[in-house]
Amino acid sequence: MHCPFCRHTDSRVVDSRTSDDGSSIRRRRQCPSCHRRFTTVETASLSVVKRSGATEPFSREKIANGVRKACQGRPVSEDDLALLAQKVEETLRSAGSAEIDAYEIGLAILGPLRELDEVAYLRFASVYQAFDSLDDFEAAITVLRAEREQQGAADAAAGASADEPAR
Ligand SMILES: [Zn+2]
Repeated sequence: MHCPFCRHTDSRVVDSRTSDDGSSIRRRRQCPSCHRRFTTVETASLSVVKRSGATEPFSREKIANGVRKACQGRPVSEDDLALLAQKVEETLRSAGSAEIDAYEIGLAILGPLRELDEVAYLRFASVYQAFDSLDDFEAAITVLRAEREQQGAADAAAGASADEPAR
């Protein structure tokens, strides 16, 4: 890339360092013309296309902020939020696209949030899916209950087979 000081069209890498979590690499560069040094940061591109059509870089912080409000008064810690934001990022990155729709982010949040806290999930879903009546809440709660019962039945079945004496 061009030198930011003198606009010389080339630069030499003098040092490379990968960040602790491995998600980015910093390069210390030197301009062969003016000899000044500067740093570049390289990350895998992931940007969010907003409803307005504008794009912005994906931010875990923004995910955590968006979910924090739905978690008010719930037993959800900052660590839980950070982990949820990380899961969302992993889901979106694994989809392989460099640009994601804001709507897909909401979808990617719903799954891990439901595992984290069902009340926070319902609050978030009510805003995200624009619930406008009690019926919408009832329908969402019915789905949660049915899935929980299914899970309970599956657990019971797994438990029963595990308890079966070996012959
Ligand atoms: Zn220069």
